[in-house]
Amino acid sequence: MTPDRLNRFARHIVLPEVGAMGQARLAASHVVLVGMGGIGSPALQYLAGAGVGRLTLIDDDVVEASNLQRQTIYTQADIGKPKAEAAAVWLAEFDPALAVTAHVTRITRDNAAELIAGADVVLDGCDNFATRLAVSDACVKAGVSLTSAALGRFQGQVANFAGHRQDHACYRCFVGDAFDAEDCDSCADLGVLGAMVGMVGAFGAMAAMRVLLEGVSTLGDPQWGQLHVLDGLKPSLRTMRIARDPVCSGCSAAA
Ligand SMILES: [Zn+2]
Repeated sequence: MTPDRLNRFARHIVLPEVGAMGQARLAASHVVLVGMGGIGSPALQYLAGAGVGRLTLIDDDVVEASNLQRQTIYTQADIGKPKAEAAAVWLAEFDPALAVTAHVTRITRDNAAELIAGADVVLDGCDNFATRLAVSDACVKAGVSLTSAALGRFQGQVANFAGHRQDHACYRCFVGDAFDAEDCDSCADLGVLGAMVGMVGAFGAMAAMRVLLEGVSTLGDPQWGQLHVLDGLKPSLRTMRIARDPVCSGCSAAA
């Protein structure tokens, strides 16, 4: 690492839980972000801030005025622009040393394998179950770890999944098969508080860093299959273990 980069990440490097080895690992890592909305925006900010060397951004949506209340990387000037492209512009300005690829496309069963290829972890912050399940199944098949971060009103849910590893649950073990066809985009109907989704996005970024640092530094404890449920109103946090479903259609044949 150059003196400039050492200085930029000095506050990470001095942390025993990250250290110089951890920082070098982050710089060599590739994170794919699915959904550049309320979760993806702060997640991108913290992953880029952490010096994750390669970031792939996937979203087929364009920035709307009603997004600015919570989607922190966009400004008034981005309204009407594709989110993935606007996010890539933000990233290039924030830290030109990081490699970025933007895909203005919806991730589906048909293209997921191609879009997540080469990822160390996929951070899914999208807004519907059908996409989440397609991403999860593709991760299991490709042997890629998955950080899932989701929000319903004031309840956040964040978990790391390693469905490709023996005896580990995948996201589909958690939610089952019922939601494949259903689009649950509910922000417009139910409302969403910007600071709340920001907490979940930052939580997701930290969960992804735990995956990236596995075997390198002590923060690298991915806590596979542990679902952290954040109640923003109380506020409180509880954690539950997700059991592997032995007949899960996503992971039962993989391990
Ligand atoms: Zn499964």
